[in-house]
Amino acid sequence: MKIADYTLFEVSIPTRRKHTWATSTVDVGQGYVILKITTDDGIEGFGEATAMPEWGGDFGRYFGESAGTTRTVLQQNLFPAIQGMDPFDMDLIHRKMDLAIRGYNYAKAAVDIALYDIMGKAVDKPVYQLLGGRHRRAIPVAHSLGVVMDVDAAVEEAVLACQEGIRSIKMKGGLDLKRDLLLMRKLREALGPDVHILVDANQGYPSAKEAIKWGNLMNQYDLQYLEQPVEGLMQLRQVTQGLSCPVCADESCWTIADALDVVRTGAADYISIYTTKAGGLYNARTIARIAEYAGIRCNVNGSGEFGVGNAANLHMACCGRNIDLASVFPITHLEGIDQTKVAGRWYNDDIITRPFDYEDGCLIVPDGPGLGIQVDMEKIRKYSLA
Ligand SMILES: [Mg+2]
Repeated sequence: MKIADYTLFEVSIPTRRKHTWATSTVDVGQGYVILKITTDDGIEGFGEATAMPEWGGDFGRYFGESAGTTRTVLQQNLFPAIQGMDPFDMDLIHRKMDLAIRGYNYAKAAVDIALYDIMGKAVDKPVYQLLGGRHRRAIPVAHSLGVVMDVDAAVEEAVLACQEGIRSIKMKGGLDLKRDLLLMRKLREALGPDVHILVDANQGYPSAKEAIKWGNLMNQYDLQYLEQPVEGLMQLRQVTQGLSCPVCADESCWTIADALDVVRTGAADYISIYTTKAGGLYNARTIARIAEYAGIRCNVNGSGEFGVGNAANLHMACCGRNIDLASVFPITHLEGIDQTKVAGRWYNDDIITRPFDYEDGCLIVPDGPGLGIQVDMEKIRKYSLA
């Protein structure tokens, strides 16, 4: 079996409400790249790059991609490097891609995901079995509240999400420390003691000491953990050492090398793994293993993936023993099939033919061959920009 050809689509799906965080202004889901790879024996695999130019790692060392950069890198660098290779030669393929162009992990992730889909279909097994097997079939979903939401509206949305089964609320913060503390208190009062509440500051706190001070104040109301309060491993370590609740690295941990640095410096208690930041499932799986042996808990997050990327994330989230924190996944909705009104509802439609099952606040990992999804080409055409 050889990698033969590919097609690119640039897709935008309307959102339920605008979702932004401390370092973003553009809404999610606008111009994500869907990649279809075909093999010489006719197997098709799909990948996704959640292209967002404003998203990036510490100090600009890593960066999001626009749909245009993802497209160019795939066309000019990645596909020419791997055409004709066997999809099962995954380590060789990653080496080829890394030699063809430095960085651009989102484009590489799209290739990696599509090839895992192909491998699974070729051997009639779900992707999670290619990643070592499924530790859990149900992945708890954290419902994410945007940073510009009015406090009372955010509390109301969190209450509705919990009525629909959610047990973890992620509050985006980092722009206004007093607002974060107020919202934390109001959420705890409204949701009671059994719901996990965490804060993701997206590097927004002005210094490590202020992150410690305000994090400890929020922890009066049982803060599950504080995600990426500041920028850079040294500051993050300072917060981890001084704060009374756990700290999670997100922007500070993209690659396998970053995961080693997090462990080496003791910078964080948890790691937020993305399939995209790591450059695909193959590398993300390695990050999870490094974390496992360092006693670091993980979840799998992303940037509001459509059905293809969401499937990859579900396969990733089920395959690690230590990937046991709730993950921020969109609960897939299709036009005419409403799984929830509010909970995890980023989009009102999607590009797959059937939504992932949602039960008791969890998404169920699909167990068909490959990613276990059918892509709806009509919907891709409907939502395509180019
Ligand atoms: Mg984050």
